[in-house]
Amino acid sequence: MTIPQEQKSCIDLHCHSTASDGALAPAELIARAAEKGVSHLALTDHDTIAGLPEAREAALGAGLTLIPGVELSCVWRSYTIHVVGLDFDETSPPFLAALSCQNENRWQRARMIADKLSRLKVDALLDKATALAGGEVPGRPHFAQALVDAGVVPKVAHAFKRHLGAGKPGDVKACWPELNEVVQWIQDADGVAVLAHPRKYRLSATRLRELVGDFRKAGGRAIEVSISGQSSGDLGFVAELARRENLLASQGSDFHFPGAAWCELGRITKMPEGLEPVWHYFREPVRG
Ligand code: MN
Ligand code: MN
Ligand code: MN
Repeated sequence: MTIPQEQKSCIDLHCHSTASDGALAPAELIARAAEKGVSHLALTDHDTIAGLPEAREAALGAGLTLIPGVELSCVWRSYTIHVVGLDFDETSPPFLAALSCQNENRWQRARMIADKLSRLKVDALLDKATALAGGEVPGRPHFAQALVDAGVVPKVAHAFKRHLGAGKPGDVKACWPELNEVVQWIQDADGVAVLAHPRKYRLSATRLRELVGDFRKAGGRAIEVSISGQSSGDLGFVAELARRENLLASQGSDFHFPGAAWCELGRITKMPEGLEPVWHYFREPVRG
């Protein structure tokens, strides 16, 4: 005889919609998350919460709990770092002002990319890339697609190799605020600041500990431990870091588009033992 298992919650606190660089509209994203068994989802678009209203309405219909989220870019020393904000007050005026500043930074970068690629003589390149981004700020993938559409290169990969990849003219760095500033924004809006995907910055173990130290000093409280596509070695390393530094543990898929088997909504490796889940500290704590 099998004993019926209690329905466990499935928590995914990192993903993207068309409000930033994801492929699915917020409502489509929610539908897919529900289909994959996700019970609690944070939509964490890059530097914008524009997708939250649509996601919230869809979540109501799907019986899924939506947690306010955002993924903010910032700098620490010479590195671009991502900080996820969770469970904040999304009506906080200073927070909204900070987000619109981040958005303006992104537009400035997009205009600069278009400028740097002007020698390719593609008519209205910025407009075309913007249209491909659904009217939002275009990033390098959108410019790459626009170059393909205009017949400048045969494939997106070529666009990166020749025009947009590291060291090429279209590889424009955005001008982001400092790490401690963005952590402060999240805190001031009563949210939790989470250091996103700590192994993705290619920092040495020593550097990463320094980053975590500065992040904590700024008021950061959590770190992403369990994320998609991470080796078990990295998982163990980050778990140990979280335990030692007394940080709450978060988890998420960082889902952007369907079809990547290693990165699917709700498909998250089990959190290692001995960690305190960040969702226990939400304004409405999540159990499970
Ligand atoms: Mn992204
Ligand atoms: Mn990121
Ligand atoms: Mn992300």
